[in-house]
Amino acid sequence: MTFRQIRILILLVVLGAAVGLTWLEQTLVRAWRAPLEVEVVPINGDGSPEATEMIRTLKTSDFDDINAFLERELARYGARLSPAMQLALLPALDALPPAPPRDGSVLKTVFWSLQLRWWGYRQSGEWLPQLGTVKLYVLYHAPQDGVALEHSLGLQKGLIGVVHAFADVRQARQNNIVIAHELLHTLGATDKYGPGGRPVYPQGYADPELPPHLPRREAEIMAGRLVNAAGRLVMPASLEQCVVGAMTAHEINFDEGFRRRFASGH
Ligand SMILES: [Zn+2]
Repeated sequence: MTFRQIRILILLVVLGAAVGLTWLEQTLVRAWRAPLEVEVVPINGDGSPEATEMIRTLKTSDFDDINAFLERELARYGARLSPAMQLALLPALDALPPAPPRDGSVLKTVFWSLQLRWWGYRQSGEWLPQLGTVKLYVLYHAPQDGVALEHSLGLQKGLIGVVHAFADVRQARQNNIVIAHELLHTLGATDKYGPGGRPVYPQGYADPELPPHLPRREAEIMAGRLVNAAGRLVMPASLEQCVVGAMTAHEINFDEGFRRRFASGH
């Protein structure tokens, strides 16, 4: 074998291992047999004192309603897992993740997602990547009137989410909706809203068997919004008003618990 061939062989082995690990990781996190391991890394997103204060007072229990949401929805699909998620709040990080490309070209996006994974690996300070642990970087920003937050995102490959949240305790429950949404993206869930943020019918609606023009009180988590009785598109107040719809449930393998339960019965 020539040196060149050896080099190609090594590259192929590394590539194969990466593909294999990604597959293994997705199988692990989507099995719903053990609590999903999640790590939250808070970051001051705008250097504001509000964000510093929000991060200083954060505690693990601030994210409890995400677990309650997962447990409740998992149970609705026939699986019992308590807790459904084990969340660890890591110390705040003094660095910002690489920003996604503005124009969204495919090649740039692929390159950026690799950059983000590499960045996450280096920040972890660990030798080996932590398999099967979802890492959510939550960037806190002081709320400003009329200024929307940057788009949050969750990557299935590498189990990484970058969440933009408000540095305001009154927003904590809605922040958790965004965190849960991105968390489910890392497990393979797709968005269920269309232009203008309107939920797509039927998969983006709670109670999809009802016609779309009827007002809803709950939102499908991957649509993130509902049309209320006043006909307005609004974000629900908390995860208590969010559900995992059938399509999302299938994407994140929630219905596996249901299948298992009835396959093992006689
Ligand atoms: Zn989304």
